[in-house]
Amino acid sequence: MILFLAAQRFPPPEFSETGHKLPGFNTPLPRGPWLEHLDVIVLLAALALAAWLALRRRSRRGLVALGIFSLLYFGFWRKGCICSIGSIQNMAQGLADSSFGVPATVLAFGLAPLVFALLFGRVFCSAVCPHGALQDLMLIKPVRVPVWLEHGLRLIPYIYLGLALVFAATGGGYIICQYDPFVTIFRLSGSVLMVACGIGLLVLGMFVGRPYCRFLCPYGVLLGFASSVSKWRVRITPDTCTQCRLCEQSCPFDAINKSTIDAPSRSMTTDKRLLAAMILLLPVLLIAGGLLGGVTGKNLARKHRIVNLAERVYLEETGKESGTTDASAAFRVTGEPVENLYADARTVRDRYVLAGRLCGLWIALVIGGKLIMLAIRRKRHDYEADQTRCLACARCFTDCPQELQRLGLSVPEGVPLAPPL
Ligand code: SF4
Ligand code: SF4
Repeated sequence: MILFLAAQRFPPPEFSETGHKLPGFNTPLPRGPWLEHLDVIVLLAALALAAWLALRRRSRRGLVALGIFSLLYFGFWRKGCICSIGSIQNMAQGLADSSFGVPATVLAFGLAPLVFALLFGRVFCSAVCPHGALQDLMLIKPVRVPVWLEHGLRLIPYIYLGLALVFAATGGGYIICQYDPFVTIFRLSGSVLMVACGIGLLVLGMFVGRPYCRFLCPYGVLLGFASSVSKWRVRITPDTCTQCRLCEQSCPFDAINKSTIDAPSRSMTTDKRLLAAMILLLPVLLIAGGLLGGVTGKNLARKHRIVNLAERVYLEETGKESGTTDASAAFRVTGEPVENLYADARTVRDRYVLAGRLCGLWIALVIGGKLIMLAIRRKRHDYEADQTRCLACARCFTDCPQELQRLGLSVPEGVPLAPPL
């Protein structure tokens, strides 16, 4: 806001003598308050429309149109900022540091998609998120990712979420924004590396459905949690599942849970033993994760400006290093006692160690939880959209003969239909 007002108040200086050119901004300038309110209104309207289109109207075409609008508005026009994915970092910093204020708009962007996910599933991902919309439009020939690889890659967003929140809460930076692969495309500028990552992901996304959403997006983890207990949800069939299997391969995001009616049976004893082993492994993983996280946090803290300076000053004070650096010389000019600097550095280091431990515990919990989930065999009668993974894209709907019947379209011959209710 201060930048916005300043930009309105003073014209930029001209360096006619030296010919120096002012560098441009990498991030969009803050906008006037009414425009920020407009963004929130557009977000809420788009979420409500997406929920209606996905759950009630069951319209793939409508979702594609809304996705294009969201891509143009939140992506190219708003330049990917403000962004629900990145907003979780502001919230984490706000929770960790009481002096850090989180703007109401950022809160709205962070929380509104989660509230909608609690009610209607991941309708934000279906057609409101510009990252998702961009990848969705790129998908031309989806290929299946091997199951073992899919399971492994799906752990990455959980780890990324833990790291992003720890970095934000400890003042270590906003890594989600820093390494956002699509924001460079929305802004048509950015580092060569990030532009290459963005283009690489889009090319990959022509064959692998939404790679960023499935294997990277940290916000998708929270949306998945909220969606797993959602009150209403995407249903592949508008009526009754007849297990015709026509929708089995229709989801490019591997988000359909198959019926287990025809699955080969496994001995109960083997299942129980496997589950017991995974449950016993969990505390071992937690201890290892906590310890490793603490050590990593301690090492990462050394990169922090204050810790780094304190270490340098300590070496100079104890005669282990001769001479000074710019930073240590500047510190001495302030006349502040070194004890204060050491105390500040200890506080920062303790914060990093705590954050590292929490992050390590979180990663261990995610891996342990995944192993336990894999060991549990669930019985399922119907083909269903997985409540956590389903992106509510509506692609699978028209593969269901019940849906074709509902739309008055022809149903493939010999396919069983449920009797009308
Ligand atoms: S998973 Fe993440 S990137 Fe993908 S649509 Fe959802 S919020 Fe956007
Ligand atoms: S709506 Fe259907 S096709 Fe789309 S993500 Fe969900 S299960 Fe997959």
